[in-house]
Amino acid sequence: MSLVTTNYPTVNINQVYNSNSNAPKVNWFNAFLASQEKSKYFTVRLLPFDNDFEHMSFFKKIHYHNVEVNDDIAKKFNLVKQDYTNNYIIRLLCNNKNDSLGDNRCPYCLMEQALWGEYNKIPVAERKTTMAIQAKAIHDNIMKYQSKEQWVVRLIDRDHENEGVKYFRFNNNRKGEGIYDKIQTLANLCLQKDNVNIFDLTQGKDIIICATRGNDGKVNYTISEGTQKPLHENLEIGWKWINDVHPMNEIFSVKPSEYVEIIGIQKKTPIFDKTLNRYVAKEEQYVESNNELRTAMETNQTVVNQYQQNFNQVGVNQPYQPTPPNPPIPASAPMNIPQPPYYPNNVGQNPLPY
Ligand SMILES: [Zn+2]
Repeated sequence: MSLVTTNYPTVNINQVYNSNSNAPKVNWFNAFLASQEKSKYFTVRLLPFDNDFEHMSFFKKIHYHNVEVNDDIAKKFNLVKQDYTNNYIIRLLCNNKNDSLGDNRCPYCLMEQALWGEYNKIPVAERKTTMAIQAKAIHDNIMKYQSKEQWVVRLIDRDHENEGVKYFRFNNNRKGEGIYDKIQTLANLCLQKDNVNIFDLTQGKDIIICATRGNDGKVNYTISEGTQKPLHENLEIGWKWINDVHPMNEIFSVKPSEYVEIIGIQKKTPIFDKTLNRYVAKEEQYVESNNELRTAMETNQTVVNQYQQNFNQVGVNQPYQPTPPNPPIPASAPMNIPQPPYYPNNVGQNPLPY
């Protein structure tokens, strides 16, 4: 029996862009603490993202925006109001910064760019003195539009192996103190201490994630080494996990740029116009509630003009041409995979896969 017969289902372009569901088709790993819980341990084994064992990659970085939306959209996606902003926020992948996802045109990045233009007009010396209020207002707005970074990993939750491959996403920490950095530190430690590559699928190690709630209510994560063992004693099961890779557009909901423009900038509700083959705004009027951002924009016409100019330059008035999703991996691709009975062994050749 061949264990490497993974064929992806055909991705229909209309399902990608015209879907009513925001729910990804994959299992997500949840390392959150319930409100009463003080700490919790999770034992996991990381899996590579692709079948190219010469260049294994265990981490994918994604860029997303916190998009403030109106009540209509919030209801559709079952959103809960964020305490700190009192707005409904949906996380959408940046259409510009994520490789081979989206249509390379991101309204949020364009708005950020327009706002920086305005901010930079304020002389540096005056940003903290005479023009401090204006500078702060623009800067606060920039932060709203700026993209954030997260890491995504594939893993097996050792306590729920029967649930199969799960995906885990966590924030990138610019200070180098996040989960990603802690896994790197552990990997380096194990390599130096025991000459063990924790990522190795045969001789690597499980990872223990410990979530602890501090007295300030913040949850801190520590990463430590688990047992050294193969991915699974049963190679058939192990290979099934290795090959159960989803394309990024199945892991994340990808929305075309005009959709993001309608929900995030105009604060309206998009509907798909089959004649135009693109999303258009449902309402004639701006939704009155939750349009703080729109109001902020209207107070500064220069920013709006600059934004429109940026957007026009990348063809906002053209009928939307969706970028085809990643082509399904051809059936011949898995031929590079080493065949059982061995898991690929990357100790020594490619010590740390990042
Ligand atoms: Zn963006």
